[in-house]
Amino acid sequence: MEFEVILNDVIPRTHDVKSFRFNKPEGFDYLAGQYIMVSVSVDGTVLKKPLTISSSPLDEDLEFTKKLTGHEFSNALDSLNAGDSFTIDGPYGKLTFEGEYDKIALISGGIGITPMISICKNCTDQKAPFDIVLIASNKTEEDIAFRKELEQMESENPHLRVVHTLTRADDSWKGCREHICENMILKEIPDYKERVFYLCGPPGMVKAVKELLVEMDIPKSMMKIELITGY
Ligand SMILES: Cc1cc2nc3c(=O)[nH]c(=O)nc-3n(C[C@H](O)[C@H](O)[C@H](O)COP(=O)(O)OP(=O)(O)OC[C@H]3O[C@@H](n4cnc5c(N)ncnc54)[C@H](O)[C@@H]3O)c2cc1C
Repeated sequence: MEFEVILNDVIPRTHDVKSFRFNKPEGFDYLAGQYIMVSVSVDGTVLKKPLTISSSPLDEDLEFTKKLTGHEFSNALDSLNAGDSFTIDGPYGKLTFEGEYDKIALISGGIGITPMISICKNCTDQKAPFDIVLIASNKTEEDIAFRKELEQMESENPHLRVVHTLTRADDSWKGCREHICENMILKEIPDYKERVFYLCGPPGMVKAVKELLVEMDIPKSMMKIELITGY
């Protein structure tokens, strides 16, 4: 279904990532982890892209979060002001979590954090008992979106653990600094065989993690995957 919505707020998340919040249209229901198609008009031409919902289904408003690339679609979104309207349709996507599994492992690369935020927030807001480990991979500390929000969720949710890994961290970073590898899974998710894995990020990263998990004897039926394409 297609809906016209009004932008309420724009929230900077990092130097090149912003969240766009808007009214949730009546009749629009979604599951944590799903995405919408967002259409904006530029000089009479409609530009349309898939963007994952980064709010939780319990939130009053809807939110998506965009990595701003300086290209046409990003610029069109970035030029919107509160009160402006645009169109969404959906929801779409199967990277959803509604409590089907007791234990899950979420692995994200870059802006692939967006569905994980929705899932973690939904579980935290509901005080759900599901055990969640999130490994979020980024290049540098400045690239970590939702860091404070994740810290807040971890403090509220005893079943959520968040691990950040940075592949190009500077010397001040004390945390993980590897690409996602077997050692990291063994160390951070020792009960990995009991978990369903959710993977989301750029195609190369997701492919590498999927191959790693297959080598670690995780069946494909224990993996749910969404690729962030379009860059
Ligand atoms: C299921 C799904 C979920 C997604 N969820 C998210 C999400 O939550 N957040 C998010 O940020 N993205 C998400 N994406 C990706 C998103 O849909 C866009 O494709 C992506 O953000 C690129 O947007 P853009 O503003 O760069 O687009 P465009 O302006 O259309 O540009 C697309 C790409 O084309 C190239 N390009 C365009 N113009 C030029 C130029 N003048 N010179 C050189 N190169 C150029 C660049 O590589 C650019 O990144 C998702 C994709 C999928 C499939």
